[in-house]
Amino acid sequence: MRIVFASDFDGTVSLRDFYWIVIDKYLGDKYVELYHRWQRKEIKDVDFLNMVFNNINKDYETVLNDIYSIPIDMKAIEFMKWFVENVGDFYLVSAGCKYYIDILLEKYGVKDIVKVIANPGYYKDGSIYMVPDTTKEYYSEVFGVDKGKAVEIIKRESDFVFFAGDSRPDYYAAKVADYVFAKYQLADILRQEGIRFFEFKDFGDIMEETRRLIPLIKEGRFKEVYYEKNIGV
Ligand SMILES: [Mg+2]
Repeated sequence: MRIVFASDFDGTVSLRDFYWIVIDKYLGDKYVELYHRWQRKEIKDVDFLNMVFNNINKDYETVLNDIYSIPIDMKAIEFMKWFVENVGDFYLVSAGCKYYIDILLEKYGVKDIVKVIANPGYYKDGSIYMVPDTTKEYYSEVFGVDKGKAVEIIKRESDFVFFAGDSRPDYYAAKVADYVFAKYQLADILRQEGIRFFEFKDFGDIMEETRRLIPLIKEGRFKEVYYEKNIGV
């Protein structure tokens, strides 16, 4: 039986979106205004992120150290190791940039065990450039990576998919997954929509709940325990 875990990266595994770190450190109020325009959907996700990442203008070492400084939920790293070793594949599904995600996974020693679906990118002349792969089935003009589509593709080859996320773009992935962990904006949206989820504060909660559910899933009792209550996952 193929049980897989898919998770958002920024704000879910990391504790702060990388774009906020860059805005706070280097870019200031004008970009906070851009953030609000993006939230009002006046700017596409990909374009907003590139406006931020393309304007870092710092030498390579500084940018690398800024990436290293992104705070991480260390329990998420523990969880990845445990899940891959004991259960199945762990995917990071991100509409952010694979460039800094890979650097962090390498730093925490999990780069080789985790599968990453994110927008490719590179460092050049002081900044990071995110270049969505238009050839992928999950390509989206707005997000680069359509997380809902990506999780749908993962689900095709799996019997059960967990998903964890924290914000609005995770909503589509949450709708596709068999079991959802949510916090912050995503939790609020799912609550409004009446979609069942487990509210988590960190991956310690996720570890506990996943360990509890896996035997039920393997014994084929998950549906009996969860669906019969008529709460719409
Ligand atoms: Mg996020």
